[in-house]
Amino acid sequence: MTENRSINLAVIAGDGIGPEVVAQAERVLNHVADLENITLTSTPYSLGAEHWLATGETLTQETKDQLATHDAILFGAVGADPRSATVPSGLIEREILLNLRFSFDHYINLRPSKLFPGAVSPLSNPGDIDFVVVREGTEGPYAGNGGLLRAGTPAEIATEVSLNTAYGIERLVRYAFELATCREKKKLTLIHKTNVLVNAGQLYSRIFNEVAAEYPQVTTDYLHIDAATIFFTTEPSRFDVIVTDNLFGDILTDQAGAITGGIGYAACGNINASGTFPSMFEPVHGSAPDIAGQGIANPTATVLAAAMLLRHLGFEGAAARVERAVEADLAANPGAQRSTEEVGSAIIAAL
Ligand code: ATP
Ligand code: MG
Repeated sequence: MTENRSINLAVIAGDGIGPEVVAQAERVLNHVADLENITLTSTPYSLGAEHWLATGETLTQETKDQLATHDAILFGAVGADPRSATVPSGLIEREILLNLRFSFDHYINLRPSKLFPGAVSPLSNPGDIDFVVVREGTEGPYAGNGGLLRAGTPAEIATEVSLNTAYGIERLVRYAFELATCREKKKLTLIHKTNVLVNAGQLYSRIFNEVAAEYPQVTTDYLHIDAATIFFTTEPSRFDVIVTDNLFGDILTDQAGAITGGIGYAACGNINASGTFPSMFEPVHGSAPDIAGQGIANPTATVLAAAMLLRHLGFEGAAARVERAVEADLAANPGAQRSTEEVGSAIIAAL
C-alpha cells in the first residue's frame, strides 16, 4: 500500500494579525513539507471583516462547498477592529467561525496546554504543565436553544437550554479515551458539575464510565468544574487529558492558556474526528487590531496550530519536528522581543 504524502490545504488568513501570523506558519509548513517529502498545495480563501466590507458576504454556501473539498483548514483570525463602527459587533465571528464549526461538525475542540521552557507562567510553582483539554464543540449551552419570553417587559425571561445528546457525549468521550491511551500518563479527567446540573451530569458520568470499561489501561478521575479551576492554579501537573462540555471547556482553556504563558503559544483544533468534513486549526488569540500591521505579532501559536494540523492528517513525524523546532527556538530566545518574521525564520532555522 502506498502512503498518501500530499496535503490539499485551505488557508483562511482573515483580518488583523491573521495574515501576518499565517504567513509565517505557511513558511514553516512549506519548509517541513520539503524536508518530509510531503506535497503541499495551499489555496487561500478571502474571508473576514475586510472581505465583508468589500463584498457584503460573510460565508456563502458556495465557499463552504469549496472549503469542504480540502484535507484541512489553517485559520488565522477574523474580526473587525472594535473601533470601526461599520462592522456590527460579533457578526463576523458568528457568521464565519461559528458557522464553520457547526457546518463542518467540529465536535472536538482540542486545546493542548504545555509550559514550554522559556515561556513564563504567572504561577510561582507551575510544575510540569503538559495536558490537553478535549472540549465538546457543538452542543451544551452553545447549541442555540433558548430565547426570550415576554421580551421588553419587566417580566422578561431569557433562556439558553443546554443540549446534550448521548450520541454527542459518546463520540467526545471516545475521542478523549483514545487520546489518553496514546500519552505517557494515560490519565483522563472528566470535568462537569454533576451535583447541580444533574441531568446532563448523569448522562456524562454514565457514558464516561461505560466507555472507561473498554479502556482499562487509562486511569480515570472526576472533578467538579469549580474544584478544577482551583487545581489549575495550585497543581496543574496533576492533569493529562481532560474531557468536558462546551461551556466549561471554553472557560478552562482560557485559564489553561494563562498558566502556560499565554496567548502567544496557545493553539487549538476544531476537529471533525469522523472525517466527514475538514478540520480547522487556529491560534487561540484573535485578530488583535491593536498591534495589526506592525509586524510584531507572535506567530508561534499559529505555527503550533500547523503542527496540530499535520498530526491530525497523520504526519506525526512532521508535526513533532515543528514542535521540537518551536521548543528549541523558545529555549534559545526566552523573552526576546522579535518581529513576526524573525520568529518564523528562527523556527525554520531550528527545523
Ligand atoms: P477575539 O475576540 O477575536 O478573541 P480579543 O480582542 O479578545 O479577540 P485578541 O485579538 O486575542 O483578543 O487580543 C488580546 C490581546 O492580546 C491584545 O492586546 C493583542 O494585542 C494581544 N495578542 C493577541 N495575539 C497576539 C500575538 N500573536 N502576539 C502578540 N500579542 C497578541
Ligand atoms: Mg476581538
